[in-house]
Amino acid sequence: MRLVLLGPPGAGKGTQAELLADKLGVPHISTGNLFRANISQQTPLGREAQKYLDAGNLVPSDVTNRMVESRIAEPDAVKGFVLDGYPRTVDQAEALEKMLKESDRELNAVVSLVVPEDVVVERMLARGREDDNESVIRNRLRVYRDETEPLLEYYDGTVVSVDGVGSVEEVNDRIRRALGH
Ligand code: ADP
Repeated sequence: MRLVLLGPPGAGKGTQAELLADKLGVPHISTGNLFRANISQQTPLGREAQKYLDAGNLVPSDVTNRMVESRIAEPDAVKGFVLDGYPRTVDQAEALEKMLKESDRELNAVVSLVVPEDVVVERMLARGREDDNESVIRNRLRVYRDETEPLLEYYDGTVVSVDGVGSVEEVNDRIRRALGH
């Protein structure tokens, strides 16, 4: 199963992606986590990405695409993956499609977690990650609206929308029902 989870920052994609990946027996691939791991290990990729994460801007797509391409080429991703935080722009979605096509693969499902903006802001402020302060959050939401929301139209016909307001278990049940699992 090759699955993409879409949704605004703070929608709970990470939590749900982890649960789904466990259930499906495939890796959870979070570009945010990959960037943060590179930053904490001070790799060249991490040093490049840091300023973008700190400001709540997107890391340039060429860098992000290369990172994802090498991750999904690893053996554990042969049986599938749950992608969380990628693609985040239409050009990344096109790049992903191309990468998959090269190995005769395609996405099986795209799930959009729907959570109102006031709820995601509240969740992010409560979470308190380094990039969860108010001005950076505001910028991430703006970037989401401008760059990521157009993906809903790009995946029109494929995307399944799921209400992301509720307990972790409730939301997980809704996603699994939507996927027929
Ligand atoms: P959230 O979903 O709460 O915004 P993430 O961990 O998914 O958190 O992303 C954190 C940051 O990592 C983003 O604000 C951005 O700087 C960077 N990032 C993650 N995924 C991508 C991507 N696909 N393209 C560019 N930048 C990304």
